[in-house]
Amino acid sequence: MPLALYAIGLGSNRRHGRFGDPRQVLMAALTALESDDIEPVDASPIIASAPLGPSRRRYANAVALVASPLRPPEMLERLQAIEAAFGRRTGQRWSARTLDLDILLWSGGSWSDPALTIPHPAMTERDFVLGPLSAVAPQWRHPIAARSIRQLAVQLNRAKPVDRNAQAH
Ligand code: ATP
Ligand code: MG
Ligand code: MG
Repeated sequence: MPLALYAIGLGSNRRHGRFGDPRQVLMAALTALESDDIEPVDASPIIASAPLGPSRRRYANAVALVASPLRPPEMLERLQAIEAAFGRRTGQRWSARTLDLDILLWSGGSWSDPALTIPHPAMTERDFVLGPLSAVAPQWRHPIAARSIRQLAVQLNRAKPVDRNAQAH
């Protein structure tokens, strides 16, 4: 089976009873990603944001590059199993969660079915995605925006409105 490269976005804004704060959750998740058919290639630094406004929640985000023979739907299934193992409850998009694992990019290009869209549709508007992604894959060309990740990150920061951080992680 030919290996595909995936960029996986990791996010956490809730502590885990055993692993600890969101940063420690992400370190454990990076370890959990590795398996017989998912090989870690690189990982960005974990970025952390201070709690905003009245919320006391801290956010942690990172991006991992992994090589795998899995097709995108199988990769999504694997990621969802890991989220579940970290105690994520389903049906609460954008709410506080222990672990969010999103497929950002796939070396096969684009994918679109009712359950899965690659590239991840919101990635080009999210600093907390483009920042860590720039650390591991600055030259990767976004297949729809037709720009490199580095270019997209520069472009986003140029256009950045004051309340950019207020969006959901
Ligand atoms: P966002 O997608 O805006 O980051 P979220 O990650 O909080 O929000 P989830 O609750 O994790 O959203 O996922 C909702 C659904 O999104 C999943 O059940 C999955 O089928 C779908 N989905 C579509 N494209 C992707 C993708 N590229 N990566 C992960 N999930 C995806
Ligand atoms: Mg997400
Ligand atoms: Mg998700």
